[in-house]
Amino acid sequence: MKRRKYIEVTGSSAPEKETGKEKKCLFCKERVAKKSRLLKKGGSNKGGYICIDCESSEGFTMKDLQEITGADLAELKKCKALEKYPFPEGSDGSDILVGFFEFKKCGICQYLLKKEDDMRDHNNECHDAVQICSLGCKQFFVAGNFEQHRKICGVFCPKCKEIPSTPDNDYRQHFMNKLKEVFTCPAEGCRMAFLREDLDQICQHLVSNHMWRSPVMFQWAK
Ligand SMILES: [Zn+2]
Ligand SMILES: [Zn+2]
Ligand SMILES: [Zn+2]
Ligand SMILES: [Zn+2]
Ligand SMILES: [Zn+2]
Repeated sequence: MKRRKYIEVTGSSAPEKETGKEKKCLFCKERVAKKSRLLKKGGSNKGGYICIDCESSEGFTMKDLQEITGADLAELKKCKALEKYPFPEGSDGSDILVGFFEFKKCGICQYLLKKEDDMRDHNNECHDAVQICSLGCKQFFVAGNFEQHRKICGVFCPKCKEIPSTPDNDYRQHFMNKLKEVFTCPAEGCRMAFLREDLDQICQHLVSNHMWRSPVMFQWAK
């Protein structure tokens, strides 16, 4: 595994003041350099930062998008939600950086995990008496809070137009075993599902709800 580098800000000899403004990386919580780009998620005003190491390990490319949606790159290229991304001539665009996908966020402490991290390990280390919700949100809960939660959880099926009941209260029974034409959002805590044929909606959802992006990643940088 790569070691984390601490980034020195050149030209500043004064010690960093302890302020609430300190820029911490979204993914590893290390302090990031001043020159780090501001990232935004959807229409939110909240900004985030990413360190150089996480920028190389956490990036989510067109190829990753292709893998989770099951669509091919030519179809993705046609999506309105992705029209701002520059698909270069003569390349399939698979290495285009889409953003930084926030899909492993702990439901208990809101800690954002990295791509390679396992939520189970995080729970074993940080939380006691947790149980995973299999009704659709995929999140862990402190056991005492789960009864309340299960009343409101579930995935609305865009095919059946209802929240299906499944024998073991496991949403995957309905969506993954039977309905290949439905895409369920893989982000922790998200219970959205779409028909796979509505690829543009899927991309729109992922990009505006779960993706940290920097305006300079696009051609229309402003
Ligand atoms: Zn980082
Ligand atoms: Zn946690
Ligand atoms: Zn749930
Ligand atoms: Zn259904
Ligand atoms: Zn989602």
